[in-house]
Amino acid sequence: MDELILVKYGEIILKGLNRRLFEDKLIKNIRIALRGLGNIKVSKAQATIYVTPMDDQVNISKVIERLQKVFGIVSVSRVAKVEKDIEEIQKAAVSYLTPSFNQYKTFKVETKRADKRFPIKSPEMSRRVGGHILSQVSHLSVDVNHPEIIVHIEIRDTGAYVYAEKVPGPGGLPVGSNGKATLLLSGGIDSPVAGWMIAKRGIELEAVHFFSYPYTSERAKNKVIELAKILNVYCGRMELHIVPFTDIQLAIHEKCPEEQLTLIMRRFMMKITEKIAVKNGSAALVTGESLGQVASQTIQSLGVTNAAVDLPVFRPLIGMDKEEIVRIAKRIDTFETSILPYEDCCTVFVPKHPNTKPKLSRILAAEQHLDAEEMVQKAVEGTETIVIGE
Ligand code: ATP
Ligand code: MG
Repeated sequence: MDELILVKYGEIILKGLNRRLFEDKLIKNIRIALRGLGNIKVSKAQATIYVTPMDDQVNISKVIERLQKVFGIVSVSRVAKVEKDIEEIQKAAVSYLTPSFNQYKTFKVETKRADKRFPIKSPEMSRRVGGHILSQVSHLSVDVNHPEIIVHIEIRDTGAYVYAEKVPGPGGLPVGSNGKATLLLSGGIDSPVAGWMIAKRGIELEAVHFFSYPYTSERAKNKVIELAKILNVYCGRMELHIVPFTDIQLAIHEKCPEEQLTLIMRRFMMKITEKIAVKNGSAALVTGESLGQVASQTIQSLGVTNAAVDLPVFRPLIGMDKEEIVRIAKRIDTFETSILPYEDCCTVFVPKHPNTKPKLSRILAAEQHLDAEEMVQKAVEGTETIVIGE
């Protein structure tokens, strides 16, 4: 009896012609995620990915933990593989699952017969394996409606598989199967979550951070690098572009009306990010904005911000409450880093009375006092790029 892991993926099966591309990406991402865990074979057959440890050194629990972070995976099961033989399957169901059975009183058996050449049909398989379990494990009884544990039998071309555990994966689509976007990554709680949500839809990310030295410190920059590293576990290799932003903030501060500072600054962020995005073949911008959270995130403010760029702007948190965002931040491990108390460039020049209903015409008039194109160009040229992950 060999032990291995079966990986199921849902949504990508629906993708018709693209299915091969999606599966290949998923397999590639799984291989990257499992780096350093030993000699492991990753292969595919009949809409399932097989992750097989090639020696005893591989820690299967660690493998499962990593797989739970790979987008595109719906569930992960640790399974026993046996011959496609009813007696072998019955024996394995009892011997392999006894530790699990000890925790429960009721069970049922579900069989899937992907190999239609196997002579025993699924309902009969379930009955016969269930009968065998009942005869061997005296404290168990069958409950077909609300069983505490489900014994899964899969008869596949490659063999028969027995398991009870189905650990949920993160769902979504494999990163890199759906294009590339550029994330405006601050040191806050929201933007890492926004990046994670977009990556979940199969999007490869690059990140842009605006850095206002010496108003924001080296520690604030390191915090953003740390956040990018945490995201890397889910999103794969990512370039992080650090843009020098001090001169632009000072110029805006000097030449524009105070109540418009934040929005003009945000428009510059968008313009610079768009330049970087276009240069790197990215097709959309991503921010952590949420409707009504602050003055620069009212419906009017977002309109003014959007008007600065041509690329689509994705705001996956737009309809979420802070608590919902925090819950995800905790789940994906960015929260503790995000709440480290280092200042962000947005907090440096905050107007006392920000305008919650800005007019684009007025903002454009104020921007006339600035040489926007040259400022954007200079910032892009001064950008430092850090590669996160391999
Ligand atoms: P966050 O928690 O992500 O910092 P926030 O609620 O503090 O968001 P703002 O500071 O108004 O909101 O920023 C809105 C969005 O603008 C952020 O989610 C992020 O996408 C982007 N942003 C803000 N500051 C920066 C920065 N220094 N570098 C890059 N992007 C930034
Ligand atoms: Mg912020």
